[in-house]
Amino acid sequence: MTRFIFITGGVVSSLGKGLSSASLGALLQARGYRVRLRKLDPYLNVDPGTMSPYQHGEVYVTDDGAETDLDLGHYERYTGVPARRSDNVTTGRIYSNVIAKERRGDYLGGTVQVIPHVTDAIKEFIVSDLDDEDFVLCEIGGTVGDIEGLPFLEAIRQLSNDLGRERTLFVHLTLVPYIPSAGELKTKPTQHSTKELLTIGIQADILLCRCDREIPLDARRKIALFCNVREDRVIQALDVDTIYQVPIAYHQQGFDTEVLRHFGLLAEGAEDDIDLSRWEEIVKRIRAPEGEVTIAVVGKYTNLLDAYKSLSEALVHGGIANNVRVKLNWIESELFEREEPSYHLEGCDGILVPGGFGQRGSEGKIMAARYAREQNVPFFGICFGMQMAVIEAARNLAGIAGAGSSEFGPSDAPVVGLLTEWSRGNTLERRHASGDLGGTMRLGAYPCNLTPGSQVAKIYQNRLEIGERHRHRYEVNIAFKDRLEAHGLKFSGMSPDGVLPEIVEIPDHVWYMGVQFHPELKSKPFEPHPLFESFIKAAVDQSRLV
Ligand code: GLN
Repeated sequence: MTRFIFITGGVVSSLGKGLSSASLGALLQARGYRVRLRKLDPYLNVDPGTMSPYQHGEVYVTDDGAETDLDLGHYERYTGVPARRSDNVTTGRIYSNVIAKERRGDYLGGTVQVIPHVTDAIKEFIVSDLDDEDFVLCEIGGTVGDIEGLPFLEAIRQLSNDLGRERTLFVHLTLVPYIPSAGELKTKPTQHSTKELLTIGIQADILLCRCDREIPLDARRKIALFCNVREDRVIQALDVDTIYQVPIAYHQQGFDTEVLRHFGLLAEGAEDDIDLSRWEEIVKRIRAPEGEVTIAVVGKYTNLLDAYKSLSEALVHGGIANNVRVKLNWIESELFEREEPSYHLEGCDGILVPGGFGQRGSEGKIMAARYAREQNVPFFGICFGMQMAVIEAARNLAGIAGAGSSEFGPSDAPVVGLLTEWSRGNTLERRHASGDLGGTMRLGAYPCNLTPGSQVAKIYQNRLEIGERHRHRYEVNIAFKDRLEAHGLKFSGMSPDGVLPEIVEIPDHVWYMGVQFHPELKSKPFEPHPLFESFIKAAVDQSRLV
């Protein structure tokens, strides 16, 4: 029997609802249950694919090619359950489906309304495409009180009625702020947002209270009393030094036990019947590393770290694998158009150019790749980063002066070009240069064949076929392969049909790798991605040289 846990947020955004959901998922999993995590986003975009990283942070891509919310990245990293297209929906998607149905005449002349048609579509989404999991955790984006969120809250209220309280649970995440002038913690915002939920007909079962210090018992009692929640179910969620401590901290506060108790699943004396040793091991390694390396990340959205969420996590994982702390030095690539790259890059043990879009800052990224190549510093180019590295090699190694990307307009030598046709298994996918921007990139998992004996094949432990996730419109142009290879840039990973370059490397270099896919999306704390593990190892070796 599948049970549904709904996680809402109140008071303010950015309280870490995604991490809280992921952590509860991990705890239930550690108790032996099968879990699935989903995110319902109230905004009107059909998906986050066309949203600016400044607005939305990273777009997390699933194996099945959906562009989704970055919280799905947390879910996957914490539980290891691969996220799917059916794990994220937005108001925009729900409405476009409802309207398409209306146009087809599927409502048989009825008046189409938010209740029941939109709420039915939301409920259908929540219960569809499941594999008989024990728990489905559904996080509702935004905060209670937002106009956009109402249909979602109404839908989960109805679902709880349809399925029964014994199969559903409402968790509400709030803030208990400390007011310095009063010298006290304030429970009023929590009372208000719980009440706000109640006006929609939802009584919170568990309150998760974010706070920067211990919440005294009398304050917790007050919250319990005013919010109509049992005292044990007012759980403190205190700040922690690493996000991987959250599941441990939640367990210590009794979060998972209270969830199981609600569902009548907690056997007598089984409160601590859970093995969190793998989480403890990760936290131990993060807290007491044996060394430190500095990686320069040369990108465009460096003042907005949410834009590179999976990337910074994957680098942490690479550090965990090598027992070092990875210090990230975020550098705005445009800076290199004014200042010498060496001035900023000299002290770094490795240089990474991440994914990106558009011409602005691209020359700076090309300069970073050049510096790394010439100075023999470990270099990792991801997606756009690989494309810029190939342009750099074309210009400065192979002497193709006009090398560029057609993403920036017509080029004399489009070393990176627009892809309008490619094969996926036995089907041919087609795009038009003037088509829609949304959902039209090469998206999701694709297989890639590795060249035997190449550096990358060794990194993947001599596997010759790998699968990684993509999100890009342009591709390195195969027409330049021979010239680039003759000058030392080897194409060591190709699509199975041999048409799309997936990986380039420089065998004579200490560690120089460009990948067209996004390996960071599949890295997990317990299973660091081999490319990140190897890159950080190269950085560790580099740091010993200096
Ligand atoms: N802008 C490039 C493209 O569309 C790279 C995209 C990316 O780095 N994700 O091909």
